[in-house]
Amino acid sequence: MLAEIITIGDELLIGQVIDTNSAFIAKQLNKIGVSVYQITSVQDEKEHILKAMNEAENRADIIILTGGLGPTKDDITKKTIAEYFDDVLVKNDAVLENIESIWKQHVRTRLLQVNRDQALIPSKSKPLMNTLGTAPGMWMEKGEKVFVSLPGVPYEMQALVENEMLPKLKEKYHCPYILHRTLMVYGLGESDLAERIEPWENELPKHIKLAYLPNLGQMRLRLSTRGFDEVLLKKEVEEQINKVLPYIKDEFAGFEDDEGSVEIVIAKQLTKMGKTLAIAESCTGGGVAERFTVNSGASAFFKGGVVCYATQSKINVLNVPKSLIEAHSVVSSQVAEAMAENALNLFQSDYAIATTGNAGPTKGDSDAEVGAVFVAIATKKGIYSQKFNFGNLRLKVINKAINKALEMLLK
Ligand code: ATP
Ligand code: MG
Repeated sequence: MLAEIITIGDELLIGQVIDTNSAFIAKQLNKIGVSVYQITSVQDEKEHILKAMNEAENRADIIILTGGLGPTKDDITKKTIAEYFDDVLVKNDAVLENIESIWKQHVRTRLLQVNRDQALIPSKSKPLMNTLGTAPGMWMEKGEKVFVSLPGVPYEMQALVENEMLPKLKEKYHCPYILHRTLMVYGLGESDLAERIEPWENELPKHIKLAYLPNLGQMRLRLSTRGFDEVLLKKEVEEQINKVLPYIKDEFAGFEDDEGSVEIVIAKQLTKMGKTLAIAESCTGGGVAERFTVNSGASAFFKGGVVCYATQSKINVLNVPKSLIEAHSVVSSQVAEAMAENALNLFQSDYAIATTGNAGPTKGDSDAEVGAVFVAIATKKGIYSQKFNFGNLRLKVINKAINKALEMLLK
């Protein structure tokens, strides 16, 4: 079963909004055994939308559109869909009721005609009830093919996919089950990892596909397979995981599918042990702390952090001795370790991470080489640090430093 996704909106094509909707939809479709053949983004232009729909229909069985369902004039998806199906827009009472009830719950002003008009849908379509917003989703069938139109607002789209679209697709098509398991691996480059696991990879059965997904010093190794017997697939993949793990026992950090990311693995471990964390950041500018605080439950272990960017702040706020900075440079293992140790004391935590570096692209006012980053970890038992050089692309240096800091804490 093949699907195509068409994301609609001028904002996507001028780079103002990144298309995350299609990634979400593709992931969900994969889970029910539907492969995505192509993803297309088009402007809020009738001719462009019609052309994209026509092309997608020629290639795929399921065509999913997102965006352009709003009440404003620039949102033209609904009218365009009606034209595509040679249909007219008619008022749907259930949708209007839903809009009125949402309006009552969330909005104080009177219901505007433009919002009432959101209850107009193509006569041949079935509405997918949006309980989070006023734009309904729509389900249309043409022979064996299905078209689904969803609002662009990510959380509205996501709820409609999970609660409405997937169950309907599962019911309509009997699809094979697709299984992905992703191992998170740290401290090994792509080629090193490939060399390490080569004996295992050579023996991997053909129907289990392997993908290497490198990202800023972290590697993800994805095993994928498909079939109708879910239990058998799971068993086969688990067997392969048990075979590959001995090759990477020091570098394996967890499964992305369960854990999500390294910070979630750390968060779980700290919470389970009842231990706490503090962070002192310079070149990463709060990025390490953010990685923890975006996830709920951070208050269970995260005591706090400081961003001491200027040298003087490291002295004033973190009590790093001026003499230490003068003797070793502000970008040094000594300063990173002092920052970590003092953060540990300042926040009374069990662990502390510190970063100091020069993210470039120029030397700036520090005497440190561009790309040099020191990460230190302090615990009540001791302190250690490591030096890295992440090159001269500022964002790459910062993000790699964040990843390294997390990875060092994990170990
Ligand atoms: P609404 O009723 O809110 O107007 P809509 O279907 O018209 O719904 P759009 O106006 O197209 O939605 O988009 C609303 C917002 O959703 C956009 O401003 C954008 O931030 C976000 N958005 C739209 N498409 C995408 C996408 N493909 N990926 C991520 N975000 C998106
Ligand atoms: Mg739009």
